[in-house]
Amino acid sequence: MKFRTKAVHTGTKKDTTFNAVTTPIYATSVFSFDELGKNKGYDYTRSGNPTRTALEENIAALEGGVGCSITTTGMAATTTVMLLLKPGDHIVANTDIYGGTYRLFDQVLKPLGYKFTFIDMTDLDAVKESVTPETKMIWIETPSNPFLHITDIAGVVAIAKNNKILTVADNTFLSPYFQKPLELGVDIVIHSTTKYLNGHSDVVGGAIVYSTKELQERGNFLVNATGVAGSPFDSWLVSRGVKTLALRMEAHQKNAQAIAEFLESNKNVKRVYYPGLGSHPQQDLIKKQMTGFGGIVTFELDTAKVPLKTFFKKLKYFSLTVSLGGVESLIEAPWFMSHASMGKDGLKNSGITEEVVRISAGIEDAEDLIEDLANALKG
Ligand SMILES: *Cc1c(COP(=O)(O)O)cnc(C)c1O
Repeated sequence: MKFRTKAVHTGTKKDTTFNAVTTPIYATSVFSFDELGKNKGYDYTRSGNPTRTALEENIAALEGGVGCSITTTGMAATTTVMLLLKPGDHIVANTDIYGGTYRLFDQVLKPLGYKFTFIDMTDLDAVKESVTPETKMIWIETPSNPFLHITDIAGVVAIAKNNKILTVADNTFLSPYFQKPLELGVDIVIHSTTKYLNGHSDVVGGAIVYSTKELQERGNFLVNATGVAGSPFDSWLVSRGVKTLALRMEAHQKNAQAIAEFLESNKNVKRVYYPGLGSHPQQDLIKKQMTGFGGIVTFELDTAKVPLKTFFKKLKYFSLTVSLGGVESLIEAPWFMSHASMGKDGLKNSGITEEVVRISAGIEDAEDLIEDLANALKG
């Protein structure tokens, strides 16, 4: 089955009572037993719910995994994955990962005794050098946030496999439509389904996709034991979103490309970061592991000419907000917003300045978006 067919058909048709074409929302906390010791596969919604199962089967199929756990948020997915490890274990991660992931690692797990090394993961030698006998996990986020640096997934996996290290990829930015880390040898993929998988800015959710049955069993156990399973209603919303993932990703990418090219030609913009531009320095790697460039464009505004506040204020179609991956275009300044939780040192280490702006291109008409940006860039 091909990608778009899987997106529409996998996991659906759970209703055998009325043969509903879509999976119903099983809004129930409990499922009764037919008799002692015999039920229909579900007993309590924290441990399992058919609406959630439908989404888990769907996302597992799209990523090419053996199974999936749906969680309340992307951070719940990340937290659950980190519980596969224990204090004393060492984890290697990119410097410019999602701000909330950095906060969890640095401010929650580090005080509990987890050890972290943050490196520039575009440099495979740096990955090799950072590995110690205690290293138990390499955390990959590619393209990175907000600068869209690309990590060589297969390259990192090769280093990890030699040292029996678990690899995890946060695939939120490209979605399985443009990148399939499991096919490149990664052990676990996580998602903030809040972003592209749901795609309509109306739910927060997460997913963990497993490459093996053992990981799936442990992951499902942890999700149930810690109580972070996604709700039936949220699961239903994401299931609805996923059906149009391919169509939306194509539209996001088309707009992002047009915006990136426009920004690159504007004199009040210092630098543009987008994998679809010839100026992105990692062309070979992009072709090797990605089937598209995604919908996120980052740039540096010349704030001496156009103050950040003025720029944002003049925009009509771009909502000034964190998050990404919705049908509507969003814009934000990582220094002040999405990445502020990294603290000034963390921000500086990852190269984020007060001039950096991140756009999540929506699916509107590109002409309108560009006209809006052009107007705001006049200052
Ligand atoms: C948003 C995001 C997360 C966290 O997901 P939530 O659903 O907000 O908890 C993790 N990784 C990336 C890349 C994200 O963009």
